[in-house]
Amino acid sequence: MQTLHASKCGLSTAQLPSSILDVLDSLTKAGYEAYIVGGGVRDLMLGLNPKDFDAVTNATPAQIKDVFGRRCRIIGRRFELAHVYSGRELIEVATFRAPPKTAVTSAAGMILRDNNWGTIEQDFARRDFSINAMYYQPRKSEVLDFCHAVDDIQNKTLRLLGDPTLRFEEDPVRMLRTLRFAAKLNFSIDPDILAIFTPQMTQLLRDVSPHRLYDESQKLFTMGHLHRVMPMLIKFGIWEQLFADIPTEITPFMERAAKNTDQRIQIGKTINPAFFYAVLLWKPFLERCHSYLAKGVAPAEARAQAGLDVLKRQATRTIIPRFAETFIREVWEMQTRLLNPKPQQIEALSSHARFRAGFDFLLLREKSGDDATQGMGTWWDSYQTMSVDEKERAIGQYNRQRAKNRRKTADVTLVEDTKNTATSIEPLVKESETRNRRSRKSTPASSSNDFRSRNDQRAKLNTGEINADHPIMKRKRVQRDLSQVVFGPTQ
Ligand code: ATP
Ligand code: MG
Repeated sequence: MQTLHASKCGLSTAQLPSSILDVLDSLTKAGYEAYIVGGGVRDLMLGLNPKDFDAVTNATPAQIKDVFGRRCRIIGRRFELAHVYSGRELIEVATFRAPPKTAVTSAAGMILRDNNWGTIEQDFARRDFSINAMYYQPRKSEVLDFCHAVDDIQNKTLRLLGDPTLRFEEDPVRMLRTLRFAAKLNFSIDPDILAIFTPQMTQLLRDVSPHRLYDESQKLFTMGHLHRVMPMLIKFGIWEQLFADIPTEITPFMERAAKNTDQRIQIGKTINPAFFYAVLLWKPFLERCHSYLAKGVAPAEARAQAGLDVLKRQATRTIIPRFAETFIREVWEMQTRLLNPKPQQIEALSSHARFRAGFDFLLLREKSGDDATQGMGTWWDSYQTMSVDEKERAIGQYNRQRAKNRRKTADVTLVEDTKNTATSIEPLVKESETRNRRSRKSTPASSSNDFRSRNDQRAKLNTGEINADHPIMKRKRVQRDLSQVVFGPTQ
């Protein structure tokens, strides 16, 4: 172990927010050791802006709770942690961990329970990469480096601590972390990792919960280098493990959307991580639509069912939360509305809650060469900057054009539902329809009480109010075997 002076590593307390200093100081005052560890130290040394600062200490979660009282909450089961609030900031405080006991690992060697407290040396050995295992004590101006991690920072190398095969077996998510950090930091991957990072090794990801994989997919989408990591996911065979029906081919649309996501992050704009799922699943969605249409299903029903099917199959890999699934289906449905809007609904559409996401999606499609958008991306783009008079003229012109040449194309999203002439917008996604289908199945002989409560729930759904004990929230989600997932009405 070498102790480095913080200034030699380019670190100083001036770079740290008061919240992390407050947490470290309180622990030190109470007689415990406390350090900053992980991404915070790594990113500061690389001159990057850390996402957050994690603390580590020899105090147990119960002792941390004693120090911080009501400012502290103990969370997690597999990995017990303390969440400490300092002002409005939340700091994650972990206790030094010892090696896992064999009794709490799965048959494949995966760690299932991991609350065995230990020393700083043991804690170090449990971390994933050398560059994530430096301990910084800002008040002492010290960085503890147990494995020449500083050299790896300098050489821009991602090196796993210990035997790479064992470390991947213990926690297969480390494969995703390898690609994420390599892409984010632009580091090269140590040859010892490359040697064992085979498609066979990626099969281990099948044992990881699809909830955790969803979280990891979000980190990949939002790290600011999505564009760089996508080909790596394909190259290392991770893509198939993360996505059920998305071909291992980066389409111009995905490419453009990924670059756009990275740019937005760079300039500090917000992104909805579900948006990129909508992009990835767009092609499978269209294919499903076509297949329903070919069977004679009405367009609106085909789109609704195709959306549910595609998301159901994706849930074998990553469980997308319900609200994000709804967002994705709404963005897809918006494509139809924006492509062939009823003239009297144009203004209402432009102020719809899903307009921005739907329009961005349409424009990205158009700019990536998808001519099925028929130039409507550009049309909406200029519409938004027009004065009231200009808008009126643009709508009139659009209306005449529309009457003259009824848009005909192979794209199913173009198919229009003509009956409605109202100026208000119909709901994009009718959650209640899918839910009714399900509840009829699960409660064949419902009492009048059940019926009333279902009606109450339906009313709540229509107002967008869905609470945790609503049946829609309890649908069985985890189905790992894709061959068991059939297309058709969702159960
Ligand atoms: P960032 O927050 O920028 O994504 P990070 O390195 O801080 O990167 P976190 O997921 O916040 O990553 O984890 C904090 C630290 O905990 C890591 O730096 C690493 O030392 C350790 N760690 C996290 N996940 C694992 C894992 N799966 N296996 C071993 N150590 C891990
Ligand atoms: Mg972190």
